[in-house]
Amino acid sequence: MTRDDKTGAKDTPPPLPEPLRVAVADSHTHLDMQAGTVEEGLAKAASVGVTTVVQVGCDVKGSRWAAETAAVHPNVHAAVALHPNEAPRIVHGDPDGWSRQGARTGGGEAALDEALAEIEALAALDHVKAVGETGLDYFRTGPEGMAAQERSFRAHIEIAKRQGKALVIHDRDAHADVLRVLREEGAPERTVFHCYSGDAAMARECAAAGYYMSFAGTVTFKNAAPLREALAVAPLELVLVETDAPYLTPAPYRGRPNAPYLIPLTVRAMAAVRGIDEDAMATALAANTARAFDY
Ligand SMILES: [Zn+2]
Ligand SMILES: [Zn+2]
Repeated sequence: MTRDDKTGAKDTPPPLPEPLRVAVADSHTHLDMQAGTVEEGLAKAASVGVTTVVQVGCDVKGSRWAAETAAVHPNVHAAVALHPNEAPRIVHGDPDGWSRQGARTGGGEAALDEALAEIEALAALDHVKAVGETGLDYFRTGPEGMAAQERSFRAHIEIAKRQGKALVIHDRDAHADVLRVLREEGAPERTVFHCYSGDAAMARECAAAGYYMSFAGTVTFKNAAPLREALAVAPLELVLVETDAPYLTPAPYRGRPNAPYLIPLTVRAMAAVRGIDEDAMATALAANTARAFDY
């Protein structure tokens, strides 16, 4: 690395990786939080074999945007939800935080129900393929928000089942409770753990339940041995790949802006973990994502 690479490298987009020979999908991204236009982002991704993306909404406004974007781009599929960190903010009427919800009512459970009704209306649309990201996040939401979070999670599971859509799970430091709620509610036919963060034992549990496990750039991190052990034991037909961009940029560009065009780096790392060649890995990932989201 030259001195020039180092100065300002933090904001510099990583270079284009070598293209994949078999096209895959980024199963979870946030184009609305990335630099540049949607068209630029999609074109850059397609140039390296990432031809499809699932655009994930985190609040009502973001979910509307995801649905609108999917409506005009055939290779963009939408997922709609209130993020687990968003639900308590709606209930407790937190005016700041990361919500882009805009006008806010007095909060309370009625406000949550109102937002959930909007999510369900979006989930019914043809080009909306999933309900999520929903789940539990005990890292960013403290005990005071747990009840609202779980209530919202349960409601999203019901919406996914009623609308016949996939369920996209956000599980941060909450493995046992996420699995418990899914057991209690009965998981939808297609359930995806986005940015899978469990160990090999949990991967076996997910596999037994038929849950998909979507691996992000975290699987390339030096300190992520348990994640690679999970990937090694997961049934190949349940494995997906994602960026969760702009977050979780894969090695060796950790800390720099992430975008769907960086998926090949993660696919290659995953192929190495599984001991299969890149094309076989990509072929499985492409088929699995299409099956998981039914597109
Ligand atoms: Zn997430
Ligand atoms: Zn996400």
